[in-house]
Amino acid sequence: MYRSIISVARARPARRPAAATLRAIARLSSLAMPSDDAEPARDAKAKPQTFEDLGVCAELADACAKIMGWRAPTPIQCAAVPEALRERDVIGLAQTGSGKTGAFALPILQSLLDAPQGFHSLILSPTRELAMQIAEQIETLGAGVGARTATLVGGVDMTTQAIKLGKRPHVIVGTPGRVVDHLENTKGFSLRALKVLVLDEADRLLNLDFEEEIDKILRVIPSDRRTQLFSATMTNKVAKLQRACLRDPVKVEVSAKYSTVESLKQHYLFIPAKHKDCYATYLFNELSASTLIVFARTCDATRKLALIARNLGFGAVPIHGQMSQPKRIAALQKFKSGERNILIATDVASRGLDIPSVDVVINYDVPQNSKDYVHRVGRTARAGRSGLAVTMVTQYDVELYQKIERLINKKLDKYPLEEEAVMLLYDRVNEAQRIAIQQMRDQDERKGKGAKRGFKDDDDADKMLNILGKKDYGGGGGRARVTKQSKLNGAKGPPRRF
Ligand code: AMP
Repeated sequence: MYRSIISVARARPARRPAAATLRAIARLSSLAMPSDDAEPARDAKAKPQTFEDLGVCAELADACAKIMGWRAPTPIQCAAVPEALRERDVIGLAQTGSGKTGAFALPILQSLLDAPQGFHSLILSPTRELAMQIAEQIETLGAGVGARTATLVGGVDMTTQAIKLGKRPHVIVGTPGRVVDHLENTKGFSLRALKVLVLDEADRLLNLDFEEEIDKILRVIPSDRRTQLFSATMTNKVAKLQRACLRDPVKVEVSAKYSTVESLKQHYLFIPAKHKDCYATYLFNELSASTLIVFARTCDATRKLALIARNLGFGAVPIHGQMSQPKRIAALQKFKSGERNILIATDVASRGLDIPSVDVVINYDVPQNSKDYVHRVGRTARAGRSGLAVTMVTQYDVELYQKIERLINKKLDKYPLEEEAVMLLYDRVNEAQRIAIQQMRDQDERKGKGAKRGFKDDDDADKMLNILGKKDYGGGGGRARVTKQSKLNGAKGPPRRF
């Protein structure tokens, strides 16, 4: 019979391996070798074929195969899991979608099976969505062994989370701000006996200025703990964090720095800034049979583009940092379920989100930080599939774009299209823009009034369009897909596809 965290807790008293002794040895060896560089992983070349080969126990290996459908460990799991099971601190440099959640979750669950306790592990993530996805994966993976998790993210009621904390979950997954909030305000919640700390997407945690919160957390957790730090990129800030909170770490790296995969076709489009929406519309139309993530720089640009696209009849849904948490989840769900095929996102969605099949990534705005380009386009061409990325470059973005080409060491091809065909869309797009601007004004006004009436959030373009669709904006509710033909006829009539 398989073990469970609960039954083990009852069957025999918790007996941890001699962690303190191992730690002391580790500390001594790091003193003897005063280098900041992490040691490369042992056995990195000899790749085992099964989870059991990595040292994963039968209960969890079974969950990987039967519940998760993972037939063999991914390279990052091969490299990181044995080290974590040996109680080593780990730095994992891995591309998005590499299976890194499993790489830190499996050792945590196994350690819990050996020595169950509440508040055993804390996983810090830069975004709410990512935190929820991690928690979901741990809950699924650990369901058979009785693992309990709590997700502590902003935008969700503190009291509900505090009640969950009262049940002493084994694993806590959260964003730093909300974790600190609970540490300071929730009675009975303490991380003094924490065994494992995971810093996921560490580069992003630091870019989002979570340093102060991380610092506060580091001050209240025991130094005698295991730490795993995962990051897509090794920045100076990450190296500093590594020195501050990891002990004698093993470094595991599974991909070349900032490379993009071969199966990804990457193009650029050089366009005049004033016709950007026409070009975006042209691409939406050309690629209407695909799933698309479109990245825009700001929340407002995301909102506006989603409204323009919706007004033109495309199945677009926005996701950005100013949306409430339930709205973000709902947007993601619509996209994941295939109800909508275009997700228009700020960089909040560029990293870590587990969206299984995205055919195309469009950079509506060139990313300010060229490393973000790699993360964005990493949403497509995953797990050996092919993918397409198109970056829209205006006269103002040339320098930024050149930086990207230098970083990935590739000259991209121009996306093939006919300018005249794009400009045929001009009138319809112009009209959709005008309507979108009015809709945003109305939305902001409603938000002001709504707040008084208890409506705090109505960022969702859907809800808005349903309400505003009843108003006459001259766009027929904005549901018609734009067509070349309709422009040629000067008609705003029923939609016709290309
Ligand atoms: P992650 O990088 O942890 O966000 O994982 C990305 C995706 O890979 C998720 O959908 C996981 O369920 C999946 N995954 C993780 N490990 C494996 C594995 N060993 N085999 C197949 N898929 C996996």
